[in-house]
Amino acid sequence: MTDDVARARELIDHATSVAVLTGAGISAESGIPTFRDALTGLWERFRPEELATPEAFEANPKLVWDWYAWRRAIVAKALPNAGHRAIAGLERQCHGRDVDFTLITQNVDGLHLAAGSHRVVELHGNIRRVKCFHRHHPVESWPEGDEVPTCPRCGSLLRPDVVWFGEALPPEALAAAVAAARTCDVFLCVGTSTVVEPAASLPFTALDAGARVIEVNPQPTPLTSGASVSLRGTAGAILPLLV
Ligand code: NAD
Repeated sequence: MTDDVARARELIDHATSVAVLTGAGISAESGIPTFRDALTGLWERFRPEELATPEAFEANPKLVWDWYAWRRAIVAKALPNAGHRAIAGLERQCHGRDVDFTLITQNVDGLHLAAGSHRVVELHGNIRRVKCFHRHHPVESWPEGDEVPTCPRCGSLLRPDVVWFGEALPPEALAAAVAAARTCDVFLCVGTSTVVEPAASLPFTALDAGARVIEVNPQPTPLTSGASVSLRGTAGAILPLLV
């Protein structure tokens, strides 16, 4: 492991362009459950297709709204951990050395910004924001209560501003992520199972373009065999060693 950490540091130190992709795993040590971790994952208690799709919201808006309200309350109490802070430190280091740096996240919790990262490409939206279901009007504040609130502009029901299964990703965010994957020389992939597309393809796009890929994950993933360095451990333990 020490050799692998040293090798990963060397790759980062010699890079001219760094891209980082994070998934739910980086926020696990902040107390936010991942979707797929067998013991704590939300999938154990809820079927995602009953909750995280437009069809589910249309069929049962109250169930979906309440589930997101519960998740939003967990996120509101969560603090960034050593992994988020290390990535913010890596951004500062890269800018200090005139190295390109792009942080891409699949997370909707906003913890990278809370940790001091300046620019975050949020591929799946942000659970702290709300918009209306039909016309996507952004809504700043809404009444708490038992009913699903409605849009003050058009009367449509409000929903979280996250990307649900079957929905398109925000095009500018996806374009920025793909461009970073194609042009970086080091791609750091942290806490993602690399199964949810299109984010899952980003490290493979980087590999195809000739980048070195460093993976940080306590479990093996479909990326592990292709990664230049695979660091088996938690983000909070490993990332501070790299920066
Ligand atoms: P995932 O749940 O599919 O996979 C999580 C990965 O993190 C697993 O490979 C697991 O081994 C790894 N992991 C667990 N603990 C870790 C730790 N301490 N350090 C490093 N890695 C750890 O998550 P995903 O790949 O991000 O994709 C699922 C979808 O879930 C995404 O679309 C995302 O929007 C959504 N999601 C987001 C949050 C959040 O914002 N925090 C939480 C749950 C789900």
